[in-house]
Amino acid sequence: MVKHIIPSDLKSALEHLSTGTFQVIAGGTDLMIQKRSTAGTPPHFEKDMLYIANLRELNYCREDAENLHIGATITLEEILHHQATPKLLKLVISDMASPGIRHTGTLAGNIANASPAGDSLVALYLLDALVVLASKKGERIIPLEKFITGVRRTLMQPDELIKEIIVPHQHFDHIKWVKVGGRRADAISKVAFAGAYTITNKRISDLRLSFGAVAPTVVRSHEIEETLKNRFVKDIKGDLKAILEKYYDLITPIDDQRSNKIYRQEVALNLAKDFIMNIKEEE
Ligand SMILES: Cc1cc2nc3c(=O)[nH]c(=O)nc-3n(C[C@H](O)[C@H](O)[C@H](O)COP(=O)(O)OP(=O)(O)OC[C@H]3O[C@@H](n4cnc5c(N)ncnc54)[C@H](O)[C@@H]3O)c2cc1C
Repeated sequence: MVKHIIPSDLKSALEHLSTGTFQVIAGGTDLMIQKRSTAGTPPHFEKDMLYIANLRELNYCREDAENLHIGATITLEEILHHQATPKLLKLVISDMASPGIRHTGTLAGNIANASPAGDSLVALYLLDALVVLASKKGERIIPLEKFITGVRRTLMQPDELIKEIIVPHQHFDHIKWVKVGGRRADAISKVAFAGAYTITNKRISDLRLSFGAVAPTVVRSHEIEETLKNRFVKDIKGDLKAILEKYYDLITPIDDQRSNKIYRQEVALNLAKDFIMNIKEEE
């Protein structure tokens, strides 16, 4: 029989976590599915559970001059309707699950779950988000791209939890989000794509692409993006084949019950192609 603890504040949550024997549960919208037993019986948890959804200290979206800070227990639905949430993240969240799940699930839960098909990750990689981890020993801040190391693998230690997500304020001339799923709501992505660009004097000053569900972690290549900077939009379009070939090497999907490798690869590259070919020289 596992214990379940409902800490009243963050200090007490971190005290419990420092024993290294607890698993955090927030909205439970991933965990209750992953640990489900046969119909009519409770889910099967192996570890003692620390239920953090009641931690009011972490229930916030707060802005300062440089960043938006999203606390770990604010729900996806509250983030969706917050005035400071970046437009790209709003588009993504509005395509996640359904209102019922979004009223319970959290952004921190989507990140800690580290699924290759976690939709918010596609936006958060593109937006250079950072993860703030807290433990009894203190805090550390890690870029999201480094925090997630593989399928359901992160740098988080057993005594840590995600305290907040930091999203730097930034401007783009244009953004795009596409989720390819089996239906409009409650569908896990077969492929997900986000793109953003800014143009200065007909040249690319910033062009970012990120892809979900096509590799063990979200694909975003700073190396490719650097090679596109300061080039004329028409030259980038002329060079499309070579650019897509570079992304082809990074897009390494699997076959599963939702889709197959060839479909995912082709759709991901077509989304990138469509996005690049529709870049406008002037905004
Ligand atoms: C019907 C349905 C539809 C869904 N649709 C989508 C979808 O379209 N797109 C999508 O991306 N996901 C989808 N999901 C998955 C899920 O809703 C999201 O991943 C959600 O964001 C998880 O948040 P949570 O708070 O419920 O996480 P939980 O289930 O509570 O936890 C998930 C994982 O994160 C850990 N965790 C949670 N919070 C913290 C924290 N603060 N610090 C450290 N670890 C933490 C837990 O230990 C666990 O490993 C769907 C789920 C369901 C049931």
